[in-house]
Amino acid sequence: MKVYKTQPFISECFLEMIGMTEINQKNSKDHNLCNCMTCNSETVHISSSFESYNPFSSQVIELGKGQLIGGGHFQAIAGPCSVEGDHIFELAAQLKSFGVSILRGGAFKPRTSPDSFQGLGTEGLRLLSQAGKENDMLTVSEIMSERDIELYNDIDILQVGARNCQNYSLLKELGKTNKPILLKRGMATTIDELISCARYITQAGNQRVILCERGIRTFENKTRNTFDVSAIASLHNECSFPVIADPSHATGRKNLVAPCSLSALACGADGLVVEVHENPKEALSDKEQALTPSEYKQLIHDVKAMHNFMLNA
Ligand code: PEP
Ligand code: MN
Repeated sequence: MKVYKTQPFISECFLEMIGMTEINQKNSKDHNLCNCMTCNSETVHISSSFESYNPFSSQVIELGKGQLIGGGHFQAIAGPCSVEGDHIFELAAQLKSFGVSILRGGAFKPRTSPDSFQGLGTEGLRLLSQAGKENDMLTVSEIMSERDIELYNDIDILQVGARNCQNYSLLKELGKTNKPILLKRGMATTIDELISCARYITQAGNQRVILCERGIRTFENKTRNTFDVSAIASLHNECSFPVIADPSHATGRKNLVAPCSLSALACGADGLVVEVHENPKEALSDKEQALTPSEYKQLIHDVKAMHNFMLNA
């Protein structure tokens, strides 16, 4: 048994485990119009050997710029916790080169303490949108109040954070927009409640909802939250919304992000949102959980390998 350190351990052992040394590549006529990470890697044959559980059962949602999510289309979403300034441009270019098509970054931040960095506000949104445009990426950022909707005109996907999951007036207003909504599970929101929250958006007219498991609050304090990986599979059984996972907020610890990402995939996650910072020690928020770009590059390599393996299983 070879012993590797940190990230390479996961990568090499994982590939050995699934009997792959390189990613299998196949073409598919069905998916040749799509740009998602699955199709870019040209491995698109979907045949599930899971009898009672289909990890690719969610509906396909169009996100913009030819990007799809759900039903076997996988999206890697990455970026800093908070947009802090011009750093977003270099980071976006790096992430794009790793195959990321959706750039995340907070501008209006829901911080526990009012003394903590609150985000750059409208300037943060402007920088995020510009970095996205320069690198031909979609952008996603958290919106905290329905009063702010106009400020997000240049942002492609609106994120509802855990703290606002059951803010019904916000959900109803977002249901009147024509943008995809990334709805995160609240810290104490049950699976049924989360689905009801999504229905507030769809009943107001907007069908493009993506759910996100980001950990729930339990007695465990070794991690920031408890990653409820079974929620991903449960949600696929209960509804047809695409489901992604956020292993960064779920664990709060960078060394748990890679293993939890792979477990999310195994449960059928249609995407992952991961916090990446060029210099995590200096990050203005969530420095404990941010990966460096090179750590993320390794992770995304493993994720692609595993997703391809599942599609071909
Ligand atoms: C975030 O994504 O930046 C965030 C604050 O996440 P959550 O709402 O899951 O805590
Ligand atoms: Mn964060």
